[in-house]
Amino acid sequence: MAKIMAVNAGSSSLKFQLLDMPKELLITSGIVERIGMKDSIFMIKLNGEKIEETKDIANHSEAVKMLLEKLIDLKIISSFDEIEGVGHRVVHGANVITDSCIITEKEIEVLESIVDLGPLHLIPNLTGIKAFREVLPHVKQVGVFDTAFHQTMAEEAFLYAVPYEWYERYQVRKYGFHGTSHKYVSERTAEILRKKPEEINIIVCHIGNGASICAVKQGKSVDTSMGFTPLEGIPMGTRSGSIDPAIVEYMMNKKNKSSKEITNILNKQSGYLGVSGLSSDSRDLVEASSKGNHRAQLAIDIQAKRIVDYIASYYVYMGGVDAIVFTAGIGENAAPTRENIINRLGVLGAKIDTERNNCRGVERLISADDSKIKVFVVPTNEEVMIARDTMKLTHH
Ligand code: ADP
Repeated sequence: MAKIMAVNAGSSSLKFQLLDMPKELLITSGIVERIGMKDSIFMIKLNGEKIEETKDIANHSEAVKMLLEKLIDLKIISSFDEIEGVGHRVVHGANVITDSCIITEKEIEVLESIVDLGPLHLIPNLTGIKAFREVLPHVKQVGVFDTAFHQTMAEEAFLYAVPYEWYERYQVRKYGFHGTSHKYVSERTAEILRKKPEEINIIVCHIGNGASICAVKQGKSVDTSMGFTPLEGIPMGTRSGSIDPAIVEYMMNKKNKSSKEITNILNKQSGYLGVSGLSSDSRDLVEASSKGNHRAQLAIDIQAKRIVDYIASYYVYMGGVDAIVFTAGIGENAAPTRENIINRLGVLGAKIDTERNNCRGVERLISADDSKIKVFVVPTNEEVMIARDTMKLTHH
């Protein structure tokens, strides 16, 4: 048995899970928030109970130290040496890091060289890696990349029709994100269907605050809706998804704003929030629309239409689909949203079973017996994927 830590570091937060591998059992999980601010919050869950502490935590290294000391205090580990590997969720590997790998000085340099591609996430990810290296210098650090699963896309799928030089000199291409989730969910779906991943085609709808659709053909990602950044694709909680790029300059002029400000609006004030004018949270919209709020329903419908556009396109691109799978916060929990989407796919022979669909957060078949495409809810588990790869790379 080995204790493996799965980490997701944000700019002021650090989420962690400690797993017992290879059994894939969750030992404990928690989050440190408001790192670098006053009254940082440390929370750890043990046997279903939340233990919380408020204190000033100056930086990620302090957060890591506190976390490890807490694990000792709570008798979860007896010494730091018990942690046999730390796996980090890393948002971007560009085309240079195409699979999970041990992070050494060399990989840190590579990641620093591509920071421009996703500074918002990559900088905090690097901070997290460095903090664990500092506190646990003898423990191997592993990077698991959101972009890696999509490295199997063909040129025709990942290239934009812009001057080729943009790709060659500036790495402008579709990368895709949520790869760890798409991989986990598609592999799990194959297991449920008692098939090998190579035997089936699956469309995964990862719909949370961030959302992306992935075409998984015979176990490999062949297309996905997010692009060069997570802004492309379907509308999300606060992101617009794809729009006509000419709107950017037009609105810069109308509002007298910089491109940076407009991009910020497309990332933070659009999607569910922008259309409804109400909330970025799907629960609020589902509730408001059930009371007749038109714009709440519209925000849901615009997203549903665009999801269906992607599903139809991937259906054709893959030459047929065995299963459509819903995952992440909305995909796992919002039954009306799932029904809204599947009802638009009648022409492909997909049919929902409303009774089966009446579920939340569980793995389940939700299509009718005579549906031509099986539809499932499969809760995602990125931490298990991170722990699996960390285990593989540190114990061989
Ligand atoms: P993130 O991309 O931040 O990881 P999540 O996958 O946690 O996001 O998804 C968050 C979304 O899931 C929110 O819009 C939230 O409202 C939605 N959600 C969670 N539970 C429910 C529910 N019971 N019904 C509808 N939506 C839900």
